[in-house]
Amino acid sequence: MVKCRCSTLVLNVAFWIFLLVQPAAFAASRPVVILDPGHGGVDTGVKGSYGTLEKDVTLAVALEVRHQLGPLYDVRLTRESDRAVSLTGRVERANSVAGELLLSLHVGGGLSREVNRIAVFVQRGDQRSFVGAGGLTEEGWASGHAPYLQESRELATDLKRALMGLQGYDGVGVTRVPLMISRGARMPVALVELGNLVHPRQERRMTEARHIRRLASVLASAIEGFFAR
Ligand SMILES: [Zn+2]
Repeated sequence: MVKCRCSTLVLNVAFWIFLLVQPAAFAASRPVVILDPGHGGVDTGVKGSYGTLEKDVTLAVALEVRHQLGPLYDVRLTRESDRAVSLTGRVERANSVAGELLLSLHVGGGLSREVNRIAVFVQRGDQRSFVGAGGLTEEGWASGHAPYLQESRELATDLKRALMGLQGYDGVGVTRVPLMISRGARMPVALVELGNLVHPRQERRMTEARHIRRLASVLASAIEGFFAR
């Protein structure tokens, strides 16, 4: 009889310890995802012919991606409202919370504003002696990001695979460039141009909640795919 009570007590204690420890373990194991809504504040990004601003669309998409990723991910935004944040400030925030992935969101059309194409950019990592603005060499552009170049490419591949499923775009391209948002970032980084806001039909779509949810859903699935590798 006494033995039975002790067993029950041990089980009860174990149960309460499980309840107390489990949330902490759960929280610690959640991947830290940094979403970077491009532009903000006085930096409006591109402006569509109906007046839609890139900074508003990128924030709407980022908030929806966070919503869709749900509680299994620790999602942080480099800005939560319409305010200006420097590129350096965005990277510092990502590093300060030990981000495991940084995804910068834009809708300005990337390298091809004439067509409605989705463009994914990652930091270039070859040994060619590129010298960019300000005289920075290739290594200078990467600046601390070099150990994450391979993962950045994998992230770009996951993004491309997921984004190719979207209807109404003229394809998805991945381009390696000297990418400022990856400079100094101690995590995989990609920048995605989700189409072209100055394309009139696209601008209308980007003001529709349904389309924002669709874009966010694809990005969320790419992020899930990256962490499932
Ligand atoms: Zn932009």
